[in-house]
Amino acid sequence: MNKNDIIRLEIVDMTADGSGVGKAEGTVVFVPDTAVGDVCDVKILKVKKNLCYGKIESIVNPSGERVDPVCEVSSRCGGCVYRHISYEAELSVKRKKVFDAVTRIGKVDPQKVKDIIGAYESHIDRYRNKAQIPVGVNKNGEVEMGFYSRHSHRIAGCDDCLLSPKIFTQISDTFKEFVTKHPYLIYDEEKHSGKIRHLYLRYGEKTGEVMVCVVVNGRKFDHQDELFNSIIEKYPQVESIVINVNKDKTNVILGYENIVVYGKESIKDVLCDLEFELSPLAFYQVNRTQAERLYEKAREYASLSGDEVLLDLYCGTGTIGLSMAKDCKSLIGVEIIDKAIENAKKNAENNGIKNARFICGDATKAAFELKKEGITPDVIVVDPPRKGLTPELINTIVEMAPKRVVYVSCDPATLGRDLKQFEESEYSVKEITPVDLFPRTAHVESVCWLRRRENR
Ligand code: SAH
Repeated sequence: MNKNDIIRLEIVDMTADGSGVGKAEGTVVFVPDTAVGDVCDVKILKVKKNLCYGKIESIVNPSGERVDPVCEVSSRCGGCVYRHISYEAELSVKRKKVFDAVTRIGKVDPQKVKDIIGAYESHIDRYRNKAQIPVGVNKNGEVEMGFYSRHSHRIAGCDDCLLSPKIFTQISDTFKEFVTKHPYLIYDEEKHSGKIRHLYLRYGEKTGEVMVCVVVNGRKFDHQDELFNSIIEKYPQVESIVINVNKDKTNVILGYENIVVYGKESIKDVLCDLEFELSPLAFYQVNRTQAERLYEKAREYASLSGDEVLLDLYCGTGTIGLSMAKDCKSLIGVEIIDKAIENAKKNAENNGIKNARFICGDATKAAFELKKEGITPDVIVVDPPRKGLTPELINTIVEMAPKRVVYVSCDPATLGRDLKQFEESEYSVKEITPVDLFPRTAHVESVCWLRRRENR
């Protein structure tokens, strides 16, 4: 097979990142935006030793899983990868991704993998409570707002992202009108000139409060009152308007300094019956409703009776541990980002939680120190970033000998790897539940319940 060949291909499988897979002349061909069962003509773009990459030229016979993607930019934008298949089909791809990783890499008994918790119908779209929308000017001189294209820093213009609530679309329209009137204000990445870099929006789904944050190369911009007054007038839900100062020549979206120009310095939301403050820099799960269901599953697996010492590693702003604090004797949270620890302490205080303490530090080191201090948690929750746990941390956890470990994971492959080490050490996987926190995108979370074998 050669570059630019056009071949007819049946799609038989789906990769973990949402690309269709077919086989031709003994070679595996990856084709994005296809569905299992599609027969299509595919143009070969890249040939490697045992595999090729292609793109759809035409669909000869569409798969029954196909649906209208609705969104016009979904095939260019880097956000969604499953808009062209039904949500049921997406859920089964995601469950399979978790299933394959934990059974193949982790050697977990297939029976332990439960059904995926999919989003409620009302939350398959428009579930995100946060959007960071880049602003730029395209080669025709038109203002573009939207999302970065797949694998690039070009803006794919999108005026109504289906993952964001309607209020974001409305505010973004008002904002676009303003920058279109004053295009010289738009920041130019290459020249590091201009002022306005991103529009950043946050939304408290339960409280209805909205924060508008404009990321600025500077501390203010011309005509800002014109923009802010029209936002305040049109959208009473906006409780806070902030300028985030980012003068650096960088891809990092947010700077450290925030200037409140209207209303409160943060908005509130409610998660698992607790109140959380969302300041511009505070981490918060982007899909509140599904996060709550994930935490409920984690709480079920932790099965606390009120007497336990609970250790929450990689705790972020404390949400998981705090949602269980009333069910245990004491809670210790560990997190590497000091600002997140500050937020976690404040969140505990605001919710009247007195049995929690938070430590800022690396999870592996902090757990080792806690063990040296003689702390023996009854239950440990871990929620690491994609790279998973370190082997040393797993050793420390095993030595601390908690009755149960609840492992929340955003990467099935590293979860599989870590479960193997646990299984080889004195812990057995009791159950794994995949949870879809990010419908339409390639990501899937899972929560796993591990039990110490001696108390079986
Ligand atoms: N449990 C939280 C956050 C999970 S995200 C929630 O559900 O909201 C993973 C967290 O791990 C992030 O907050 C990140 O800052 C933190 N983290 C990353 N590396 C770490 C490390 N080596 N030690 C401790 N925390 C770390």
